[in-house]
Amino acid sequence: MYSIYTNYETKDLHDFMKNGEVANTTYLGELNKRPDIYDKLNFNGKTYVASVINDEKKIAFVEETKVLEEGTKFEYETDAICPYCGSEQSDSWELSGDDGEEKETECGSCGEEFKYIRSIEVTYSTYQK
Ligand SMILES: [Zn+2]
Repeated sequence: MYSIYTNYETKDLHDFMKNGEVANTTYLGELNKRPDIYDKLNFNGKTYVASVINDEKKIAFVEETKVLEEGTKFEYETDAICPYCGSEQSDSWELSGDDGEEKETECGSCGEEFKYIRSIEVTYSTYQK
């Protein structure tokens, strides 16, 4: 059995790692099997994704995630947005690829793999000599 908690703060997680006490979190319930990182769990009609698992204490910390409609896509955004959970990929600048090339990456929030195409726009600035 794993106890599932959410609404944690990173600093509380550090405390937990140090002294094993779970503080300032919301308890969601028990799970009878060990979740894996990025597993989707449902509690109270909401979907959560497992982000931290402690096997010694049999505790998992999860974050609420959105589940977007099948077929969702985002086009010509400044940052890549996960089409599964809608989270902006803060490390978009690390994505590689030539202009118009289709590539794949993994969402940093929900772990789903999605396809992306980088569009590179070339602009010109001109000055008088
Ligand atoms: Zn996602």
